[in-house]
Amino acid sequence: MKKNRERKIIRAETMGYCMGVRRAVQIVNDMLDSGKHTTIHTMGPLIHNRHVLEKLQQKGVTVIKNPDRAEGSVVIRAHGIHPEVRALFLERNIELVDATCPRVLRSQRIVKEHSDQGFHIVIVGDKDHGEVRGIAGYAGNYRVIKDEKEAQSLKLPAKTMVIGQTTLRRDEYARICDILKEKNPHIKICRSICPATEKRQEALRELAEKVDAILVVGGRDSSNTKHLYRTASKLINAAWHIEEASEIPLEINNYDRIGITAGASTPDWIIDEVERRLLEMIEEEQRLNMRGNNGNS
Ligand code: SF4
Repeated sequence: MKKNRERKIIRAETMGYCMGVRRAVQIVNDMLDSGKHTTIHTMGPLIHNRHVLEKLQQKGVTVIKNPDRAEGSVVIRAHGIHPEVRALFLERNIELVDATCPRVLRSQRIVKEHSDQGFHIVIVGDKDHGEVRGIAGYAGNYRVIKDEKEAQSLKLPAKTMVIGQTTLRRDEYARICDILKEKNPHIKICRSICPATEKRQEALRELAEKVDAILVVGGRDSSNTKHLYRTASKLINAAWHIEEASEIPLEINNYDRIGITAGASTPDWIIDEVERRLLEMIEEEQRLNMRGNNGNS
């Protein structure tokens, strides 16, 4: 007689929406629920998750890339925007709803204050990222550098303040700051790195010790989801990056303890669907076993 295996699903302690993304999505949903806004745009995609974007689009929320196309209300996403872009909206009497993450707002404020005091600003991050473009807008005199190599070749004025893109890895930022401090020990360094990414990575490491397979749930274009998947693949042989429940591989049935984690732009309902589908797969397998046993008896 074939015995049913004991199978278990374990969620990572920390996963899914970070505070800034959850807040931005909530702001747009509240606007929709209020029924007070005839047209709602977001300046750039609100979040790196096509399911959420599709749902918002079905409710009439459209993505715009520049202020000329705007009418009605425009939501500033968690990355924030350049102050000149903000001014263009205001000139056109567009209602701006600010969903900039409070951590990004803090970086913008710090950059502005130091610029006003005559500091040269060094921003560590990706020059094409919306957050970096936005905070650079608050700096008078600035440079954006992306890695240690660029830090090595940088000339630093005496009065310099360094700030990092919030989603950088803390160790990477520390290494770059060390190089800059060697060049000028008097530079000011802003602790701007957000713990959200690190917490999800730590929770994944803990999860990997308890399971023998991991599903990483999130958008294919979400860089933190891809980062989680890379870490999961190093920690465990059986790891998959899936966007939704329908992509759960059948091979998952070979494993007894299955872990779930998700990127910072993955909504709760997609994570719940993945867990529900996994439970169904486990139950289906157990039913088939029972039938086999009854047939054999
Ligand atoms: S990762 Fe951190 S800084 Fe970026 S939106 Fe989320 S909470 Fe804000």
